[in-house]
Amino acid sequence: MYEHQESPVLEQGAPSVGVPKGRRRGIVYIIPNRCKECMYCIEFCPQSVLEKSENINYKGFHYPRVKPGKEDSCTACKMCELLCPDFAIFIKEVE
Ligand code: SF4
Ligand code: SF4
Repeated sequence: MYEHQESPVLEQGAPSVGVPKGRRRGIVYIIPNRCKECMYCIEFCPQSVLEKSENINYKGFHYPRVKPGKEDSCTACKMCELLCPDFAIFIKEVE
């Protein structure tokens, strides 16, 4: 199903309270309609947090999502954010 061009930012992978303190954690945010499915974020995530969503954006591209079960795995390294050519993914570091 096609989404409106001004799709909302999707918040994904909110870490649970069970993650040990002192470990950097991140919440992944995706802006689906900016994505062009280049896969950089998925391929270069050191923690293998991301995968292709089954859903497509308005351009027909599969945007990334956090893999089920990997919600606590993002270390907020921001590699995905740095590599994305279209500013379609960003990370918020949490305590
Ligand atoms: S910030 Fe790092 S660990 Fe988190 S999803 Fe992006 S590349 Fe993966
Ligand atoms: S790096 Fe950006 S454009 Fe490429 S798949 Fe990831 S979110 Fe989409």
